[in-house]
Amino acid sequence: MTKKSDYNRLTVEGDMQTKWICGCFETVDGFFKFCPEHNEAMKHTIESQIDKLDMTRVIEEKA
Ligand SMILES: [Zn+2]
Repeated sequence: MTKKSDYNRLTVEGDMQTKWICGCFETVDGFFKFCPEHNEAMKHTIESQIDKLDMTRVIEEKA
């Protein structure tokens, strides 16, 4: 048996800090969970923001 991940989230849905009516929420430990409606939109938003930050990619996408 392989060792289980050392990483454990403090919460998943337990201690919500902010919750929106659509179902998105942020937990007290800074974890965001988006509802299906906003998940794709947020992904695109985050990706475009990261591009603006000019972060260097470790793994280049292959065409
Ligand atoms: Zn939402």
